[in-house]
Amino acid sequence: MSNCIFCSIVAGDIPSQKVYEDERFLAFLDIFPASKGHTLVIPKEHHVDIHAIPADTYGAMASVAKNVADLLMNKLLSEGTTIMQMNREAGWQTVFHLHMHVIPRWSGDNLHKPWDIKAATDEELEAVLQEIQRL
Ligand code: AMP
Ligand code: ZN
Repeated sequence: MSNCIFCSIVAGDIPSQKVYEDERFLAFLDIFPASKGHTLVIPKEHHVDIHAIPADTYGAMASVAKNVADLLMNKLLSEGTTIMQMNREAGWQTVFHLHMHVIPRWSGDNLHKPWDIKAATDEELEAVLQEIQRL
């Protein structure tokens, strides 16, 4: 897709540091890394977000992310992994070509969960479940 930075990376028009590549997917280092080795996994085909991609393609991308997570852990000796995947503006997406963040983690690396922990009441959980299950 013209005007898409990640399509330009796939096409080789913008350079990237490739961690993994196959026929359908590419993984490359994020230029604003949250941690050492922060990698983005993308489908080579342009899909905007999780709501636009076929489920089996999303699943195949998740498989690649799992292998990349293992690779980064083995090579960088990370102690944990955080996977993030933003969708649409409200979901914090800034590049509108679907991508999965694979973020190697170390204890004490000073990254923070993006939400505050606050317990829901049973009534609140029941109400939202009813909303989800409404026919
Ligand atoms: P998101 O906010 O989930 O849409 O993430 C977009 C990510 O793409 C950010 O973490 C950026 O640092 C990263 N990014 C943007 N441009 C490039 C680029 N040319 N090469 C590598 N990563 C990029
Ligand atoms: Zn694209």
